[in-house]
Amino acid sequence: MTTKTLLLLPGDGIGVETMAEVERLISFFNSRKNGVRFETESDLVGGAAYDAHGVAVTDQCVAKAKAADAVIFGAVGGPKWAGVPYAARPEAGLLRLRKDLGLFANLRPAICYPALADASSLKRELVEGLDIMIVRELTGGVYFGEPKEIVTLENGEKRAVDTQLYTTHEIERIAKVAFDLARKRGNKVHSAEKHNVMRTGVLWKEVVTAVHKSYAPDVQLEHILADNCAMQLVRNPKQFDVIVTDNLFGDVLSDEAAMCTGSLGMLPSASLGAPDAKTGKRMSLYEPVHGSAPDIAGRGLANPIATVASFGMALRYSLDMAAEADIVDNAIAAVLASGLRTGDIMQPGMTQVGTGEMGKAIVDAVKKLVS
Ligand code: NAD
Repeated sequence: MTTKTLLLLPGDGIGVETMAEVERLISFFNSRKNGVRFETESDLVGGAAYDAHGVAVTDQCVAKAKAADAVIFGAVGGPKWAGVPYAARPEAGLLRLRKDLGLFANLRPAICYPALADASSLKRELVEGLDIMIVRELTGGVYFGEPKEIVTLENGEKRAVDTQLYTTHEIERIAKVAFDLARKRGNKVHSAEKHNVMRTGVLWKEVVTAVHKSYAPDVQLEHILADNCAMQLVRNPKQFDVIVTDNLFGDVLSDEAAMCTGSLGMLPSASLGAPDAKTGKRMSLYEPVHGSAPDIAGRGLANPIATVASFGMALRYSLDMAAEADIVDNAIAAVLASGLRTGDIMQPGMTQVGTGEMGKAIVDAVKKLVS
């Protein structure tokens, strides 16, 4: 019997409700006798941790996150904590986890389920069957580079500075993540930067080219200017398989790609750290892209698909359970094809359900697919 350890951090608002549906699915997987068992532990994060401990995440929780095979995170924040000290604000819990676990690679898939193709702002034929993975560098670049300041000049004007900064090592490790992923998918990587106007773009292109040559000559690589990439994403998104890019461009391009596919309630993500030198295991955190949605929290209205699909990504990328990951993805597609919808993705002629009914329908579909 193999045991996989998961730390569940539901957080605040709808995070608690959508995580309950992940637990429902885990219970089903644990009821099977197929040699794999999930051992789960839950802890507080965000506003819930602040209420209990006065901090957005405790040292003990960070230690548990480091020890787990994967962390599944819900969402944090809400108006209740608007006035708490800056360092203890709910979002600080997530930022600390990302930093302490060294999560430098953010994976954001943009998948368009056929049943939802009409919910996209693009034409059905452009998005139906879309399956892109955006790999965003998460801990470097202009969001962190120093100097980062606003200074007042002698003439009284102000000057703001952010610094875009990348080292060879930072680019190498994110490029390797992209090539590794491409091998498990369509075997194609687009590397997006602005080498025409940015020195970091020149280095980015150089290093990705070198990594490709030495590490992944079997994968198809294309370089693309980030502005052209933005345009191509709405012109012909299906030309892409994996897109690797820096922190800033990744922030923008991943939102753009994601919204080609419909609602926030559908979008999972993964953040990965470096592989351990001995075991090869990467620290990892899986979370929906959406927040805690205080406007609908506590009413059973939230769409659990983004959180359930995040657990699906954990199966694929941290737990070596690709077959189960496929089953979860196919179950979500089957439930959508059957016409069930939560309020955020409701369409005429479909059946509106709540969080629990959607979660149960996904588990029922999983049961059918494994039997
Ligand atoms: P949000 O993602 O929480 O909500 C935006 C809109 O989308 C809301 O109308 C909400 O009802 C809807 N929505 C989001 N997820 C949904 C789901 N699963 N099902 C149905 N509808 C859904 O973003 P916001 O309103 O800007 O932020 C609310 C709080 O969440 C803030 O405190 C913010 O700081 C926090 N936040 C946290 C994270 C995170 O934990 N990673 C991310 C974004 C925002």
